[in-house]
Amino acid sequence: MTDMTTKFFAKGAQPSTHTGNRGLQIEEPLIFEAGALETSGVDFEEPEAFESRLGDVERHDSIGLPGLSEPETMRHYVRLSQKNYSIDTGIFPLGSCTMKHNPRINEKMARLPGFGDIHPLQPQKTIQGAIELMAVLSEWLTKLTGMPAVALSPKAGAHGELCGMTAIRAALEARGEAQTRRVVLVPDSAHGTNPATAALLGFEVRAVAADKDGTVRAAAVREALGPDVAAMMITNPNTCGLFEPEIAEIAAALHEAGAFLYCDGANFNAIAGRVRPGDLGIDAMHINLHKTFSTPHGGGGPGSGPVVFSESLAPFAPLPLIRKDGDSFALIENESETQGEHPFGRLVAFHGQMGMFVRAVSYMLSFGVDGVRQASEDAVLNANYIRAGLRDVMSQPFGDKVCMHEVLFDDSFLKGTGLSTLDFAKAMIDEGFHPMTVYFPLVVHGAMLIEPTESEGKQSLDQFIGALRSLVRAATQGDAERFKGAPHYAPRRRLDETRAARQPVLSYSPAQSKAAE
Ligand SMILES: *Cc1c(COP(=O)(O)O)cnc(C)c1O
Repeated sequence: MTDMTTKFFAKGAQPSTHTGNRGLQIEEPLIFEAGALETSGVDFEEPEAFESRLGDVERHDSIGLPGLSEPETMRHYVRLSQKNYSIDTGIFPLGSCTMKHNPRINEKMARLPGFGDIHPLQPQKTIQGAIELMAVLSEWLTKLTGMPAVALSPKAGAHGELCGMTAIRAALEARGEAQTRRVVLVPDSAHGTNPATAALLGFEVRAVAADKDGTVRAAAVREALGPDVAAMMITNPNTCGLFEPEIAEIAAALHEAGAFLYCDGANFNAIAGRVRPGDLGIDAMHINLHKTFSTPHGGGGPGSGPVVFSESLAPFAPLPLIRKDGDSFALIENESETQGEHPFGRLVAFHGQMGMFVRAVSYMLSFGVDGVRQASEDAVLNANYIRAGLRDVMSQPFGDKVCMHEVLFDDSFLKGTGLSTLDFAKAMIDEGFHPMTVYFPLVVHGAMLIEPTESEGKQSLDQFIGALRSLVRAATQGDAERFKGAPHYAPRRRLDETRAARQPVLSYSPAQSKAAE
């Protein structure tokens, strides 16, 4: 016991208790340290004598598994789970992540046996309802975006980018231009997945500088255009939380030059129900169901990144295709069954994230079109409420103008305090908040990107703004202690994140545990 208590006192933390616990904050050792090794809470019968066929590779040492009884195991994991921060415990203001409430009706729908207990290899006539649901989702996504076709199978945003850009490559191949058009334009304010996708497909990435207001000029795109350009990938609204005002002009310039426009639509939450990307001239765009349509993500569930296509790219969409034939629905799984389409192949073994399709449709049907529109309007309103509540004490890189669903600050308000964006973010943990996204986008010094989403009410936003104002006051009044060691009240103090990333300790050994004491 003494061993444990001294070990688990956070260095420098106040006040000491016998157990190392602080009120309801229970100090939890590793599962290896909590139980005895090699014991088991399960009462197995002794196996009968047998002849091992493993020969030389037979294990003789113990493998060091932790052994706990059922109640000990329950307590261990429940205590760990209580240390989690989640959208169900508070505002999760991570910019670019759209951490919104996951309505519980979605969960109920996804668990209906007709959706939850089916298998992708079942005969299609036995899962007509599930295919119909995919057709309903497709209809909503194509109507909301004003684009004629959709591929549901991509399993995340970045996977959707791969899908959309592969369709673009297939379209260029069909035109005999795949060898000459090798370049993809990417603004320097792009999400990192955009250039990564282009590079993965063998394209050469050419950067286009954003203007000093944080958005891209059509003139800059025209200048970068040439017969070698295959496409441009643009994030809209962009990672600075700004709508690209010249996007339609940019699309026209690309089309005139024989190139395509890919839009990273992960930020669709800002414009769903208000703007149809098809009207802007976009050729392909992924939609993150796990962001805009409230399916849980970030440890809570898998992603889903359907891609919508313009008329010119629709024929190249990957298998499976969904077809309605009278009253029945079919998944077209083979190229031989297509009718004039030229799918570039398939992206996943089966049909995509069925559970996420159900959650997204449940969200859409329970909100209705007017509700989806109001959700994006409220998301933008909430971000601007935070902007208005902080603009006199924090600094914005592109001046004080209306933002979309997220508001971007930089670190110039910390100048002269000796504090960094990281110090500021860590102090937010002591106030009971998950920090905002920091140091992203890279084009802004010491970036702090805040996305409250439409889920937050006025009270929650006011409390958040109040806490940040108090932190700014402390920073500018020289209360460096509140920041430098922060977080002070979390189960662990400031972690060495660089060392954790560079020298990760991924396995347990009692010796290492001793050395750390
Ligand atoms: C979240 C996000 C992505 C990546 O989506 P994943 O589902 O994490 O792959 C790409 N671009 C932008 C702008 C995003 O916000």
